[in-house]
Amino acid sequence: MKINPSKCVACGNCTYVCPMGAIYIDPVIKRATVNSTECVECYACYNGLSQEKLNPVIVRTMRKVFQLMRLRFDPEPDVCPTSAFEPDELVWPRVVRRAFSDPRVPHESTGIEGRGTEEVKTNDVSDRVMVGEVGFTIEFGRPGVGVWFRDIQKACWTLAKAGVAFEKKNPITSLMSDVSTGTIKADVMGEKLMSAIIEIKVAVERTEEIVRLVWAIEKEVDTVVALGVGTRCDEKGEENVVAPILERLGYTLHRAKTNTGLGRITNVAKDKTNEPVPAGAAK
Ligand code: SF4
Ligand code: SF4
Repeated sequence: MKINPSKCVACGNCTYVCPMGAIYIDPVIKRATVNSTECVECYACYNGLSQEKLNPVIVRTMRKVFQLMRLRFDPEPDVCPTSAFEPDELVWPRVVRRAFSDPRVPHESTGIEGRGTEEVKTNDVSDRVMVGEVGFTIEFGRPGVGVWFRDIQKACWTLAKAGVAFEKKNPITSLMSDVSTGTIKADVMGEKLMSAIIEIKVAVERTEEIVRLVWAIEKEVDTVVALGVGTRCDEKGEENVVAPILERLGYTLHRAKTNTGLGRITNVAKDKTNEPVPAGAAK
């Protein structure tokens, strides 16, 4: 994202809407400026502010005149009065910033907007996490902090060494040049994102090992890490396998989402003899 200095009137409105704190008023040129290293191309500034088309010269003059009278002439807080934002034509690899950071842009790899994954929200129809398995979402970065791909890379290498299975329908996995080693394409290493999620699954018995591995990864990366756990409930709707392990490790558990099968598969898979195949068995 760029701000055209010939249009900007330095009202400062945009500095409050940037979730990465990447916009500042440059004291030398006295115009709002985007720190392109920190900008994650989320477009919150461009889409979040109404773009008005006031004449910059007139607005600057009015602001100066009002200042002389010890008054202020400020535009409404939710507008850029002079439409000073000029989005860059994003090309590879910078374009990945936008794919991961602008929630309205679908990922090419999965077609899903935002972080580009359904996580286990659709497990009742996708069977991502089967009985006897535990799925982990390991989320890196947050607004205001972000995450560099080089830190995501460190995590992927560590997890791959532990022999985890990376979720195929996940945009981080789709950016790997070698999934077996967790190696991500080298040309995105210099890109920063608002946040991204690695998704893996392992056998339930490995739950504690993976949690401890994520704790170790957290110490190695320069961002915040949030861990989500997805598992299957038993026929009574309870979960008594993974929960005790997590509680023993010090977590207070809150059930975030429970899928109850309302999204049942209507286009039932058929086998060669045209007989319906139960969900999961067809894969
Ligand atoms: S909102 Fe527009 S005019 Fe105001 S500082 Fe930002 S870019 Fe400049
Ligand atoms: S695109 Fe997003 S990160 Fe970049 S300057 Fe605008 S609000 Fe900030």
